[in-house]
Amino acid sequence: MPKKQRKPKKPLTLYKRYKKLGDGIERTNKFCPKCGKGFFLAQHNNRVSCGNCAYTEFQKK
Ligand SMILES: [Zn+2]
Repeated sequence: MPKKQRKPKKPLTLYKRYKKLGDGIERTNKFCPKCGKGFFLAQHNNRVSCGNCAYTEFQKK
């Protein structure tokens, strides 16, 4: 069996998560309250979730 090759971790590209809006910059994603800054919550249909600790927050519409 071939040895499993570890994929190198991709560095967090924080800057791409920011969206320029008019006269200011607004976060497009929220930070994870458990993991802290740098861990963004992934956007889903009606919730956001952290890929690091599986924290999920439901969004009200
Ligand atoms: Zn987290």
